[in-house]
Amino acid sequence: MGLLQKILIPFLGLVLAFWFYSARDTFKPEMLRGKRVIVTGASTGIGEQIAYHLARMGSHILITARTEAKLQHVVQRCLELGAASARFVSGTMEDTAFAQHVVREAQTSLGGLDMLILNHVGASYFGFFDGDVEHVRKLLEINFLSYVAMTTSALPMLKESEGSIVVVSSMAGKVGFPFTVPYSATKFALDGFFSSLRQEFTIQSINVSITLCILGFIDTERAVRAAAEVLRERPAPRDECALEILKGAALRRRELYYRYSSTRLPLLLRDCAAELLDYLVRSRYR
Ligand code: NAP
Repeated sequence: MGLLQKILIPFLGLVLAFWFYSARDTFKPEMLRGKRVIVTGASTGIGEQIAYHLARMGSHILITARTEAKLQHVVQRCLELGAASARFVSGTMEDTAFAQHVVREAQTSLGGLDMLILNHVGASYFGFFDGDVEHVRKLLEINFLSYVAMTTSALPMLKESEGSIVVVSSMAGKVGFPFTVPYSATKFALDGFFSSLRQEFTIQSINVSITLCILGFIDTERAVRAAAEVLRERPAPRDECALEILKGAALRRRELYYRYSSTRLPLLLRDCAAELLDYLVRSRYR
């Protein structure tokens, strides 16, 4: 009885309070109507699907990636789906100046910015770490430094609109993953930078939300080509994933887990049974 009163009842109270707190807001597509949004890496995959959802919700969309022909196609489709406006800028995120240029384009063509969705990812290999330090440096530039550069340039506009930053990361950015060492390193860096920045925003009363998205295996062409044969799990649909990202962003969540069962639940083991979690991660591979 003593144990029940001292531990179990307060614990249950905390769980209920957490549930109530986290379930208090509900997403409505109108939340994104008319919003000015940049989506990076939107020529294909999850970014492309995010652009289509935003279009259906009536947002102003500025997309970017390297392949102009694909971006043209996505812009055309966004306009057909009902986007308030849609345009693209093509170029590579290896170049910090290009990252800053995209943000300036939002300033010129949209007159401001409500949401910055950082989603692009550079190509890497799937296999044991090969010792190529230059590759790690290049991947850090694309997957990490360009995110920092875009955030820095966009911050004045986001402060003005009390907007949002959305950072698309991965389970590989929360727990060590084999065969994707350079990629995992860049995703861990994002967590460090954006979680620390969120703390500073709170201290400085800056009302710009940061949503870090922790994704499991998603059925984009690149991911399926790289990992479908070696991973035991089935990939989740990119269309649903994109919508969940937008819901988390609109509700200004600090972190978004998709799918919950393959990301948030295993991560509960991280502090109390790290070796078991490492084992579970390794056991996902054939
Ligand atoms: P994807 O299909 O490979 O798309 C990547 C996007 O980034 C493309 O639009 C690509 O377009 C662009 N990109 C690549 N290199 C670039 C560069 N140097 N400069 C500018 N843009 C570049 O990727 P995805 O699977 O949709 O992944 C999207 C995000 O989700 C990534 O951040 C990824 O880490 C994360 N994620 C994915 C999975 C998954 O299983 N799919 C799992 C966890 C996390 P261009 O080639 O035209 O430039």
